[in-house]
Amino acid sequence: MRVLVAGGGIAGTVTAMAVQRAGHEPVVCEAHPSGGADAGAFLTVMHNGMDALRAIDAETPVVEASFAAFGVELVSPDGATLSTRQFDTEALAGPRTLTRAAFYRVLQDEAQRRGITVAHRRRLVSATAGAPGVTATFEDGSTVSGDILVGADGLHSVVRRLIDPDCGPPRFTGLTVVYGYTRAAGLPAAPGVYRMIRGSRAAFGFTTAPDGATFWFARIPDTERPRTELAAVTPAGWREFTGAAFDGDPLPCAEIVAATGDEVYGGHSYDLPTTRRWSTPAMVLAGDSAHAASPAAGQGASMALEDAVVLAQCLRDLPDPASAFAAYERLRRSRVEKLVAASAGQDVGEDRGWLYRHHLDWDSRITA
Ligand SMILES: Cc1cc2nc3c(=O)[nH]c(=O)nc-3n(C[C@H](O)[C@H](O)[C@H](O)COP(=O)(O)OP(=O)(O)OC[C@H]3O[C@@H](n4cnc5c(N)ncnc54)[C@H](O)[C@@H]3O)c2cc1C
Repeated sequence: MRVLVAGGGIAGTVTAMAVQRAGHEPVVCEAHPSGGADAGAFLTVMHNGMDALRAIDAETPVVEASFAAFGVELVSPDGATLSTRQFDTEALAGPRTLTRAAFYRVLQDEAQRRGITVAHRRRLVSATAGAPGVTATFEDGSTVSGDILVGADGLHSVVRRLIDPDCGPPRFTGLTVVYGYTRAAGLPAAPGVYRMIRGSRAAFGFTTAPDGATFWFARIPDTERPRTELAAVTPAGWREFTGAAFDGDPLPCAEIVAATGDEVYGGHSYDLPTTRRWSTPAMVLAGDSAHAASPAAGQGASMALEDAVVLAQCLRDLPDPASAFAAYERLRRSRVEKLVAASAGQDVGEDRGWLYRHHLDWDSRITA
């Protein structure tokens, strides 16, 4: 089966590798002109995301491009440690932190190493179902045909709207998220741990990479502004906005923000609590296009990785796309919607075993 994949990000590249392993022919079409070297910020792939990569033997390049953390510390505004939590790193290869640019690059490189082409400058604008199959049309007017189309085209998915023209837009979570990294010396260090700080107005977290770089993020309550306005904010503007959120707090947050150069990225946080339709007989959603979560749990990428593997298993084991899509939705919907709800409440809870300990075995058979 020829599987068209719209989006060469996290869900897209891994879906392509997984469907290839399932015996199908993937074709990846990515809107971005390059491999994402200019993609901002960084992210953390949790244990379950690494487990999904391991299911298709794609874990190693991500491990090599990332660094580990072994636990989380929660610190109050006066600097007191409120709690510490160790990850079970014996059994689970996570979490791993890496820049978004590095993540896209290693996934695309690995897909290409496996003989999968990721075509850039191919922005999907529409698709029509044939009998059988689907034809995708791109911004430049070109078309490509396949048996099915996987919408791995992220939060503002075109495929989601093709599947359900009445679907609503993503929901603003009331938070602006700012991420940065700096190599400035002399900053407080948190090697091997995520130090999470509850400031009086906003939340902050940071970790120190083995090379000494500080990776930090801030979640700041905010009102929604137009996308064009946000896109025009400069690095200095993001530093000022973030520094102000921690001004007066006796914590290192403002100091770390002030020591950051131009590697600072901000944007509103959106989620998708539920998506009414995940598929048509020839189209299906994976990753953020189906279920975006607020970054509170740091699980969006990991869930996208799980989706990719499960979707490919369903396409391997079930006789036709419609029954594969039904099984995929049955296996995925409750888990991802539970995550989105927990993240929206900012309370993913202390017991995160249901997230981290989720194991995907490539060889297990999916039944209808
Ligand atoms: C600031 C921030 C921080 C985050 N931090 C974390 C974290 O620490 N851990 C974590 O797990 N998650 C995190 N997330 C969430 C995570 O980034 C997403 O859940 C994840 O990227 C989803 O992967 P995806 O492949 O579905 O979408 P994306 O990674 O968004 O990939 C979609 C791809 O589709 C392409 N595309 C879009 N439209 C089209 C089109 N029409 N045609 C063709 N291609 C198209 C895009 O260019 C992109 O390459 C964070 C999100 C944000 C905003």
